Amino acid sequence: MTWEEYKKQLPQYTDEDLKFIESGFELASLSHQGQKRASGEEYIIHPIEVSLKTAEIGLDAKAVTAALLHDTVEDTSTDLKTVKKKFGDEVTFLVNALTKVNVIHLQSDEKTVESARKMFLAISRDIRVVIIKLLDRLHNMQTISALPERDRKRISLETLEIYAPLADRLGMGELKAKLEDLAFQYAYPEEYEYIQKELKEKMSQREKYLEKIIPIVEKELIKEKIKIIDIHSRTKHYYSLWKKLLRYNMDWNLITDLIAIRIIVGSIESCYATLGVIHKLWRPLPGRIKDYIALPKQNGYQSLHTTVFCVESNITEFQIRTPEMHNKAECGIAAHWAWEMEGKPVSGTKLQSSKFHWVKQLREWHSAFDKNTSSDKSFLESLKIDFFKDRVFILTPKGDVVDLPAGATPIDFAYNIHSEIGDHMAGAKVNNRIAPFDHQLVSGDIVEIITQKNKKPNTEWLNVAKTSLAKGHIRSALKKEGHLFGLFPGKEKIEQKTEIIVIARDRVGLLKDISEVFSSNHINIQDFSVEKDANYPRVHIIFKPKHKEQLSKIKTRLKTVKGVEEVGSRQTVIK
Ligand code: MN
Repeated sequence: MTWEEYKKQLPQYTDEDLKFIESGFELASLSHQGQKRASGEEYIIHPIEVSLKTAEIGLDAKAVTAALLHDTVEDTSTDLKTVKKKFGDEVTFLVNALTKVNVIHLQSDEKTVESARKMFLAISRDIRVVIIKLLDRLHNMQTISALPERDRKRISLETLEIYAPLADRLGMGELKAKLEDLAFQYAYPEEYEYIQKELKEKMSQREKYLEKIIPIVEKELIKEKIKIIDIHSRTKHYYSLWKKLLRYNMDWNLITDLIAIRIIVGSIESCYATLGVIHKLWRPLPGRIKDYIALPKQNGYQSLHTTVFCVESNITEFQIRTPEMHNKAECGIAAHWAWEMEGKPVSGTKLQSSKFHWVKQLREWHSAFDKNTSSDKSFLESLKIDFFKDRVFILTPKGDVVDLPAGATPIDFAYNIHSEIGDHMAGAKVNNRIAPFDHQLVSGDIVEIITQKNKKPNTEWLNVAKTSLAKGHIRSALKKEGHLFGLFPGKEKIEQKTEIIVIARDRVGLLKDISEVFSSNHINIQDFSVEKDANYPRVHIIFKPKHKEQLSKIKTRLKTVKGVEEVGSRQTVIK
């Protein structure tokens, strides 16, 4: 594709924007020159497609440029320095974040899947990165047939577990549905085929039925003077249908929203009036009227839903919304973005957007984090993601995600992987460089723990660890080592020792026999004192047992010394 052809598809950008994007187009073409995709196509087709989708969704020129360059730093000889020199900090930040999120891979269990999603957001830090990455994934899914089957399956599962839920969280319903249906056929091919086959039969019946219903609704709305902007049917997409079937024991009769009728009207008042009209026509199913206008879904979705006993007692779902709500349901955050870009939102949209629950929340989180955010700062500025400011997401060299509290250190990371790794930690590499044990980790760090068999935790570790998991393991390791009461505040050097108290009948050679128990076990006595009592002196011996077993062995041996009546021990601290 030449620049002239490409440019035609970006009518909404100014000449200045286009000049900026053109440099990106040139650098991307140059960098990927000679590279081919698995399909045999020129590689440049991929970044071009991703950038066109980015433009279509309404992101700014910098985002479109970053989309063009998103694979250059990772896959070509072009580096961030070059990008920075040509395009400045903002594009560099976007390209860098887009490169970094590539290390996130899907792990099997639910906890790490959630961590991976959070990690994704934490690394992205800017909503544009998430959107471009989602569009990158969409194009990869659209061209996935060129890959070997094993890769198709893995990438598709990742799409279902990480990317589609993120699109959902951003309210991008259309993108979510596209990602899910593309991934569904490769991740679960048999199930996909089943749904496709079943649906084909059912749909033709349903379509005939809808042809009867829609005119009835139209006629009634016109009679009530409600202006219809659009009325159409929407078919449930395959993957969400399959998930619903799973929840309903594969009973198709329980799926009442296989096809829903969607009515788009001009105002919120008209939405409620339309609901009234439908309920006048047909009896609603109890408990199935949902007012997502008054109570939007978490991701900002708004609509009225109702399910009625329709013509021939067919159970049918209706969805009623305004054009703004419709646009948001399809494009989510991106729809909001496009309005802000124009600088003069259509009347009412400002108010509407305040109902956009999660966007509001995002703003609140942001301003709580950054007190300097002035109200006149552009909304785009406030879209930086800091939701997870109290968590950091750290990677193993293999790309597994470890979710830790902010301020966590390599020790926390090590114990999170496995207690054995923590217990024998000898050092840590953060992003390939040796780091001290108390190094504070930040999201996206790749951490490698170096272990040595003979390494053991010491009490200082308790001051360095942030997680209770690590602290618990360190304490129990210290206990094993004989440091029984391992918790003392402050950082002064503390040593825990054991004091043994022996009560024995006095005799000549008693003290010599007692001390011999220690010397024969190669134990260095650190303090030795005797409390005189007429016939039963108390002998105090302070030493440092190597392990629990050594202490009990010594105690047992002491009891066999002639004249010894009692042997006790306690922990003691010497500064
Ligand atoms: Mn890519």
